[in-house]
Amino acid sequence: MADSPLRPIPPHVDIRRSKRRKRTVSAYRDGDRVVVLMPDRLSAAEEARWVETMLARLEKQRSRSRVSDEKLLARAHELACRHLPEVPEPASVRWVSNQNRRWGSCTPADRSIRLSTRLQSMPAWVVDYVLVHELSHLIEPAHNAAFWALVHRYPKAERAEGYLEGVSAASSLDLEDF
Ligand SMILES: [Zn+2]
Repeated sequence: MADSPLRPIPPHVDIRRSKRRKRTVSAYRDGDRVVVLMPDRLSAAEEARWVETMLARLEKQRSRSRVSDEKLLARAHELACRHLPEVPEPASVRWVSNQNRRWGSCTPADRSIRLSTRLQSMPAWVVDYVLVHELSHLIEPAHNAAFWALVHRYPKAERAEGYLEGVSAASSLDLEDF
């Protein structure tokens, strides 16, 4: 039986094997590096194949995100008009790939919002939820009752929170709140 030769793992890739991880392989960018999370039991050949697959997938995601910052800003305006008319217009809304422990973030001082590219593979109503969440921070930085009242004007807020909790629990990442 002829095995195809192993391709070396590129130097910018960090592999993290986990005994807790059973089947799933996932990857994310961390600055200039790529972290690939995989089950402990995979062979070297499987590891090499998975790294190749995940790098291709991330590249596809990135080329998609290059064109969609504009759409994201337009979507934020739409959601703000519909659910949060008192919220100031965000100055910028963009995808970022270096934010792996948070789904989104907001800087009220310059009215900028950033969303993790990890959301790009999720349903649109989940992305909308994160936008509504970050838009609400433009008037209420804290996670207090007034803040949650704003967020829960979005009809699928509770469902989206459950979805994101599920994703966090499934990946071995220790995702913080956003
Ligand atoms: Zn928040």
